[in-house]
Amino acid sequence: MTPPVTSAETQAMIDDVLSAYPPKVEKDRQKHVKPNDPGGAKECEVKSNVKSRPGIMTLRGCAYAGSKGVVWGPIKDLISISHGPVGCGQYTWGTRRNYANGQLGIDNFTVMQITSDFQEKDIVFGGDKKLAAILDELVEVFPLVKGVSIQSECPIGLIGDDIDAVSTAATKRLNMPVVPVKCEGFRGISQSLGHHIANDAIRDHVLGTREIAEQTPYDITLLGDYNIGGDAWASRKILEDMGLRVIAQWSGDGTVNEMATAHLAKLNVLHCYRSMNYIATTMEERYGTPWTEFNFFGPTKIVESMRKIAEFFDDTIKEKTEAAIARYQPFFDKVRETYRHRLEGKTVMLAVGGLRPRHTVGAYEDLGMEVIGTGYEFAHKDDYTRSYPELKQGIVVYDDPTAYEMEEFTRRLKPDLVGAGIKEKYVSHKMRTPFRQMHSWDYSGPYHGVEGFAIFARDMDSAVNSPSWNLFDAPWANSKKS
Ligand code: SF4
Repeated sequence: MTPPVTSAETQAMIDDVLSAYPPKVEKDRQKHVKPNDPGGAKECEVKSNVKSRPGIMTLRGCAYAGSKGVVWGPIKDLISISHGPVGCGQYTWGTRRNYANGQLGIDNFTVMQITSDFQEKDIVFGGDKKLAAILDELVEVFPLVKGVSIQSECPIGLIGDDIDAVSTAATKRLNMPVVPVKCEGFRGISQSLGHHIANDAIRDHVLGTREIAEQTPYDITLLGDYNIGGDAWASRKILEDMGLRVIAQWSGDGTVNEMATAHLAKLNVLHCYRSMNYIATTMEERYGTPWTEFNFFGPTKIVESMRKIAEFFDDTIKEKTEAAIARYQPFFDKVRETYRHRLEGKTVMLAVGGLRPRHTVGAYEDLGMEVIGTGYEFAHKDDYTRSYPELKQGIVVYDDPTAYEMEEFTRRLKPDLVGAGIKEKYVSHKMRTPFRQMHSWDYSGPYHGVEGFAIFARDMDSAVNSPSWNLFDAPWANSKKS
């Protein structure tokens, strides 16, 4: 089967793939899978942010995962208690590879799994006393901890434990922020509501509670960068090369103090719009702080974003920005020269989270690659509106794709590379399709920033051009032979 080229051909492919569903499901999924129109024509709009259909294998996570796993977990000097049975916390143990400076268990708690380990008696009689005891014990065991967040799992909401009262009492008793986060997994339809709840909890309990001694006109915050594989460090380096002072990183390698003083920034720069636009708009409304989105994947977008950010400042910053771009250029050229001829014309299919289905498109194009299918797990309408112009006419765009759809589109589009999450990785491998995990960079990174582009290019090249793909058949191909 030849992969589709035009919008009509893509629509025919979509119709054929979705025809395998019962009629009601087919009708519903038609609204979520469309050929792209860069102009954002109404009939091409992808429906999003609605409940996944029961019985369909979705790629989504829950609100608790969005709050603990994405927003709160990377704050390094704060302990997030997974409040409830041990299983949910186990899922987020080890994090999304959010790197952080500091000594593990001394002043850096990011990769630790702290849970209230609910048992039957806690469900029956309530866990408030247990939670209060855990908080006291934590401060004794980890004297340098600077705050605690209580991440509610499903059972806590169901039994109605009063984590607000426990937190208020502990905040006074322990003299540090103890923040209740009501992010039970049953709230909302995906991890997206967890991001929102997490942002709101930071807004209500931490933001704007402290001051910094000396301010400069160039103070900014770096929002929505979780330092996966060192991403935020690479982003920060560019911002500092531009002459800006990053007073807070949200939340990769961030601290409680940075959350508390972020309101003093002159500009908020936002990488992951989906997970942190809430706090950016809060700061705009409450403190009048402007914000702007940026994209530090690949040279084209890096340069574009640097100039966009510099526009908020005076000539000093603009000149430093141009000087930094001039310094980066030979490096960018070298990376392109090394990898472009190996990757030119190769195709990619993506299915990721908050920003990558659109933000990485430019980086692939910098390497001569083409994104031929993309979609989000938990996006909203405004994410898709931002995506259409970044994508080619007629490519397939899918929202909350099912495991079946991912497999079928891979079969039909025959991409040279699939970029998605761990749940899709081994299916893709079994189909002999090269794969990169685009949530946590498959133990690599950073992919953001100047040096990140070289690592991104190397990893895509080693996946796509690995000779191993020709050394085996898909298991079902072998079973047919026998
Ligand atoms: S949905 Fe509920 S039980 Fe499941 S991981 Fe999320 S918080 Fe835990």
